[in-house]
Amino acid sequence: MMNEKLKVNDKVSLGLTEHIPEEKQGEYITLPFDVPESIEEITVHLMVENEDENTIDLGLEGPNGMKGWSGGARRSIFVREDRATPGYLIEEITPGNWGVVLNAYEVTGICNVEVKIEMQPKAPQWIKGDLHMHSNHSDSPYSLSEVIDNAKEAGLEYIALTDHNTFSQNYAFEPQEDLVIIPAVELTTNRGHSNFYGVNKPFSDFRCQTVDDVKRVIAEGEENGALISVNHPHCDHCWWDWGIEAFDFDFVEIWNGPWRERNLRALNWWQEQLTQGKRMIALGGSDKHGPDEWIRYGGPTTFIKASTHSPEGILDAIKLGKVFISSSPEGPTLDLAINDYEMGDTVAFNENSGELKLEVSIKNFQGGTIKVYSSNGLTVEDKLNDGDHHLTYQVDLSNHFYRVELWGEDKQLQHFAPQAISNPIFLKKARD
Ligand SMILES: [Zn+2]
Ligand SMILES: [Zn+2]
Repeated sequence: MMNEKLKVNDKVSLGLTEHIPEEKQGEYITLPFDVPESIEEITVHLMVENEDENTIDLGLEGPNGMKGWSGGARRSIFVREDRATPGYLIEEITPGNWGVVLNAYEVTGICNVEVKIEMQPKAPQWIKGDLHMHSNHSDSPYSLSEVIDNAKEAGLEYIALTDHNTFSQNYAFEPQEDLVIIPAVELTTNRGHSNFYGVNKPFSDFRCQTVDDVKRVIAEGEENGALISVNHPHCDHCWWDWGIEAFDFDFVEIWNGPWRERNLRALNWWQEQLTQGKRMIALGGSDKHGPDEWIRYGGPTTFIKASTHSPEGILDAIKLGKVFISSSPEGPTLDLAINDYEMGDTVAFNENSGELKLEVSIKNFQGGTIKVYSSNGLTVEDKLNDGDHHLTYQVDLSNHFYRVELWGEDKQLQHFAPQAISNPIFLKKARD
């Protein structure tokens, strides 16, 4: 069941051929094709026979006009709503009549052209990244392009630029072909920090002197559509000192940088909140500033199962709780399922539901311990060898959530620490 859910829909592939006679030299030729609903990415490959004697330029048009033009500079291009080959617009892929646009710039005799079009349907896929880092727009020595290069080198697929109390980074970064960049800001008050994601300028002024000021800024951010997490709430230096119970955070950064006592306190606090019936989603982020042996990009990495790899798609998936945190981009991965429900979902059950089983899929674990937590606390603790695992546990319907932690030896820190932490799958008795 789980493998089916993870399966990505098949690509749509089209092959178009065109024989361009010499008389058509200098003309523009459009090869039409249909784009169905819910396409995430279109790639176009152009193959031109006898390129020494023929020059054919390439472009693409959509239902609402030209999408871009690369002339004779490229043979392969792609468009998505979150990134595209330079020269092509980054915008929503609308279904309808599209066309590969060719310019028969130079043709000798007959030029045979083949165009291969591939369309990738939207389907939820795990994307890995880091939700917390700084640039020289605040107190890091790294420029935005250095941050971007470093993140790519670490194997990340998305990042959030959470500079302190400033928005300039959100207007300054260059969109990337192979890295999603989420606009963000870390509200940095003298008594606690909080990340605002997804909006270039979520609030007008960071200066908070009272709890009411903080509440006002958070309300403003929510109003503007930002997703807001409380950061390192139990940090030794900058814990959330505004009275955490006075706020209603939907997201909490339980894993900030290398695993430390402060993270354990946040983890325990989160478990308490969940046990009290709160639907709070846990996030992680490295809080990388400058060169640091211990704090690394993607340490930890937050995996998010998003339908669209755009900032909006990633944030929508976070809201749904389709999130787990892993020690690094290469760290273990986790998936939970109860019947057709998965991480973040609420399983509605009634007397006729019968026995329910929690399925846990683990990949790439270096070995250690699995801990299954429920609203009843630590429910299962088992040793696990390294490798991949598919485990099944009986669900006790008196619990209102299940979540999983994998613990193992942290080779860098040389202590036993979480290697991956899932978000919960929730349970709710359905009304008949
Ligand atoms: Zn902070
Ligand atoms: Zn920070």
